[in-house]
Amino acid sequence: MRYSKMFIPTMKEDPKEAEILSHRLMLRAGFIRKLASGVYTWLPLGLKSLKKVENIIRQEMNRKGAQEIIMPFVQPKELWEESGRWEKYGKELLRIRDRNDRELCLGPTHEEVVTDLVRREVKSYRELPLILYQIQTKFRDEIRPRFGVMRSREFSMKDAYSFDIDEAGAEKSYMDMYDAYMRIFERCGFNFKAVEADTGQIGGSFSHEFMVLADTGEDTIISCGGCGYAANLERAEVGFVDREVPHTKGQLKDVETPGQRTVEEVSEFLGVKPDKLVKTIIYNTDRGTMGVLVKGDREVNEVKLRNMLNLDVIELADEETIEKTTGGPLGFSGPIGLSIPLYADRDVLFMEDFVVGGNVRDVHTVNVNNEDFKVKGYYDLKVAEPGDFCARCGGTYSSTRGIEVGHIFKLGLKYSKAMNCTFLDKGGKEIHAVMGCYGIGVGRTVAAAIEQGHDENGMIMPFGIAPFEICVLPVNSSHAESMELAEAVYKELLYKGMDVIIDDRSERPGVKFKDCDLIGIPIRVTIGERNLKDHMVEIKLRKEKDSQKVRKEEVIERVLNYANEFKRR
Ligand code: ATP
Ligand code: MG
Repeated sequence: MRYSKMFIPTMKEDPKEAEILSHRLMLRAGFIRKLASGVYTWLPLGLKSLKKVENIIRQEMNRKGAQEIIMPFVQPKELWEESGRWEKYGKELLRIRDRNDRELCLGPTHEEVVTDLVRREVKSYRELPLILYQIQTKFRDEIRPRFGVMRSREFSMKDAYSFDIDEAGAEKSYMDMYDAYMRIFERCGFNFKAVEADTGQIGGSFSHEFMVLADTGEDTIISCGGCGYAANLERAEVGFVDREVPHTKGQLKDVETPGQRTVEEVSEFLGVKPDKLVKTIIYNTDRGTMGVLVKGDREVNEVKLRNMLNLDVIELADEETIEKTTGGPLGFSGPIGLSIPLYADRDVLFMEDFVVGGNVRDVHTVNVNNEDFKVKGYYDLKVAEPGDFCARCGGTYSSTRGIEVGHIFKLGLKYSKAMNCTFLDKGGKEIHAVMGCYGIGVGRTVAAAIEQGHDENGMIMPFGIAPFEICVLPVNSSHAESMELAEAVYKELLYKGMDVIIDDRSERPGVKFKDCDLIGIPIRVTIGERNLKDHMVEIKLRKEKDSQKVRKEEVIERVLNYANEFKRR
């Protein structure tokens, strides 16, 4: 490609709307442009990177025997009613009507469509296992689209679905996809981790997320130095040391706490540490109002609560519900005498003489013990924190931030049962397919690569997904000899199958160097008048500080050597 002919609208200034580096650089380097909130156009350079990621994914999926299809983006409501998700999916599902007033949605994911396809077409166990995948547009009406293509509303996803005859087959498909993902993200040059994850809206029994480690990641990863257990914060189980349950000591007593609602206020007012308080959080759920008890210095993990009780809806109760169920206003709730079901975090079991809300305005109760109220049980219900005990080995947790680029799920029979996706087994019996599903955010993967690879001058993209592999840069395009050599080198590298751009613009050298760095092209061949006098040209790797001079006859070989080295890594 010739730079002069390409549509690369770069920007000198940092765009104001971009909060994180990858978003800033993708705008500045002319990779993407915003059309509307969470909706982006991919420009030629960005699209080249996107396609390279797609191809890596495609190769690794095909290697595992998965087969590519494309399913419709627009999906009928009826299918979503069958799975039960028309109701459950909530506002992320963009629902539309056609001219006949039929209700449809824009696909946020394709379990329904693929299950419908397979139930119609697959009749016998002989046709399984089957893994189908597509690389296609998704739409999710995200509550907070941000960070450019990292969390957009319209985005490209690779989604794969596996169908097996039994649990053992499903396990193998899952592991095949796990392996494929490991290879894909290694080839993308990532520093990443596979972690245990919650199954969220997709549902199912078990899942892993593939996290690119980066401080700007939206996810928190909890990991154990002892046994290597790693999980998304949403999911991370907290271990505990079994101790003796303490017995009542102090005298239960109501105390006045005028206007003191928060843990900080109450603990300061009463002169006790926050870990001597127990918070009573009231929730409205699809199974009624309930309360959760957690130590004052910790937070309730709503995902754990939802999973434990199999809830669909879980929201903090409004003031009115709190008054009605506890008798007191927000900030003064406590477990004593409540008639709603109460679930306590395990920490509470080992506490004694603690402080809770008095269920009356401006009153808290002190010297409270577990005997003073009734709970349904004590469970792991808090958000994990660094320093907590590992649930597996008793080691100590630490935490890092990550960008979720891929997610794999064991779905089991969830969709095949709901939608009656069956086939005949060896004995002629009709049984349900065991399913799995596997997603990768393609655009997010490009953004994550930039989030991990950059410096003050711009992107340092991995060789395999940079928009170009090599830039041939004649310093002065009006110098005939420079241009002649540049053209020759450019053509020879093209002929060798390299992805090369020649910066044939009549821009100042500074501008050309800056653009080449900004775009993050891994290998630059600089051809300048002065070096040419000594028959030399310059090769510079984007990730290294210094350049080297090589004899102009050797330049092709040297560049190809670098390229091979990059490919091998
Ligand atoms: P998140 O927790 O980030 O919302 P998710 O759990 O909803 O992700 P999945 O349903 O598992 O995501 O989708 C598979 C993959 O699609 C994710 O791993 C991610 O890489 C990508 N993805 C999901 N939502 C978005 C989005 N709004 N913009 C870009 N990519 C996304
Ligand atoms: Mg999501």
